[in-house]
Amino acid sequence: FLTANCSNPELPTMENWDIQSIRRDFPALQQMVNGRPLIWLDNAATTHKPQCVIAAVANFYAKDNSNVHRGAHTLAKRATDAYEGAREKIQRFIGAESAEEIIFVRGATEAINLVAQSYGRMVVRPGDEIILSNLEHHANIVPWQQLCDEKGASLKVIPLNDNGEIILEEYTKLLNSKTRLVAISHVSNSLGTVVPIKVMIDMAHVLGVPVLVDGAQGIPHFKVDVKSLDVDFYAFSGHKLFGPTGIGILYAKKTLLESMPPWQGGGNMIKTVTFEQTTYNSPPNKFEAGTGHIAGAVGLGAAVDYLTRLGPEQVEIYEQKLMAYARNALSTIPQLRQVGTSAHKAGVLSFVIPGVSSERLGEYLDHQGIAVRVGHHCSQPSLRHFGLDSTIRSSLALYNTFTEIDQLVLAVEKYLC
Ligand code: PLP
Repeated sequence: FLTANCSNPELPTMENWDIQSIRRDFPALQQMVNGRPLIWLDNAATTHKPQCVIAAVANFYAKDNSNVHRGAHTLAKRATDAYEGAREKIQRFIGAESAEEIIFVRGATEAINLVAQSYGRMVVRPGDEIILSNLEHHANIVPWQQLCDEKGASLKVIPLNDNGEIILEEYTKLLNSKTRLVAISHVSNSLGTVVPIKVMIDMAHVLGVPVLVDGAQGIPHFKVDVKSLDVDFYAFSGHKLFGPTGIGILYAKKTLLESMPPWQGGGNMIKTVTFEQTTYNSPPNKFEAGTGHIAGAVGLGAAVDYLTRLGPEQVEIYEQKLMAYARNALSTIPQLRQVGTSAHKAGVLSFVIPGVSSERLGEYLDHQGIAVRVGHHCSQPSLRHFGLDSTIRSSLALYNTFTEIDQLVLAVEKYLC
């Protein structure tokens, strides 16, 4: 069995932040790509996994593999303990009151669809309104659009200013007695803007309106405490948080989950079934029909252990220094236009160079071993706000270095010569 353990006391901690030692925890970062050491700046798409997460998944399959909740044998018990143990780790990591508020889903997309199809269908009526912002990922637009089409309701969109920030005065004007839900990103995946979610949640709550936060790009970069935020729903994906793909979390307040109907039917979500009537399990099982991604949940639990050892507060401090350095370094290229210039950004640096094909530059960077994303980043409305349909997006994580930023800037300069 692989022995790496995400709670290993030898791993770096807040006190001994050592970037080279952190990087050694990530096997994928050790490789050469196109003859160069890999520089991974596509973290907003997905993050690499520390060895201890890979070990947790491998060991689960090698040792504890079983379905959960059902079998009356040793491996079923081990698998159930590992699965429910992961739920508790995630509960503690985000400061939720109880593990019953943690629903395992496939990712942020599925979490948002769950809320739209369960809570949304329950409360939204013709003429009602749902508030989004103009910086949402398509995953936080389309499910609400589908719900509004079905119910005869409408979307209200908070506009952005020139820096790519939400205009709070416009948000105030949109909130009214027809508002059934506010659904906003924690951090924009195309611009990196950090959204003032606490203020926005408090404003919605004055009218008794619940708020869903799409935290896919928030939780990898700073501490999230759902209780102090008083957020009603918080959605995120494991693979952007150094965990496996195909696993994610919907956090929801227990009272909401209890009031919501299930969205998928099948095993695990029921108490009793007859052909006449089914009674449902209580949350979280009510929302977890069928066999979930058990190994993925275990892997995500390990990722959360790893982050807990590092310290999310420390991750934020390091990344904010890296972000400031990168913004400054990119600004030394006169032709380059940074897209999204809010003072408060996390993770994402988008840019264009007028007259230069972003696709070609992206290919060139790949030849230099530098992975960035080129395109609309599943957030077409936010780019349209800047008159663009595509940007180059470099996105940071806790394992990136100042030297990697220098290499990105050098490579762009070389391409422009
Ligand atoms: N929301 C945001 C802000 C994202 O950046 C993403 C993915 O890029 C998603 C939602 C969807 O995440 P997933 O594809 O993991 O469900």
